[in-house]
Amino acid sequence: MGKPRRHHTKSRTNMRRSHQALDPIGLVTCPQCKSKVMPHRVCSSCGFYKGEEIINVLKDVKKDVKKKK
Ligand SMILES: [Zn+2]
Repeated sequence: MGKPRRHHTKSRTNMRRSHQALDPIGLVTCPQCKSKVMPHRVCSSCGFYKGEEIINVLKDVKKDVKKKK
């Protein structure tokens, strides 16, 4: 458990922190638009999944443009 900092060597601290590294998240390249996507999920930039268009991304873009004007 906790001890005053000076009682720990740098080696001990580093050995404890050797387990704290984060794993990189696995990303897949979208076959439709070649952007990085989470696996087994609809692509957020083109709206395609398994070669089918699930979300009409361009429709939402047009709505946003109208709102801004
Ligand atoms: Zn895509």
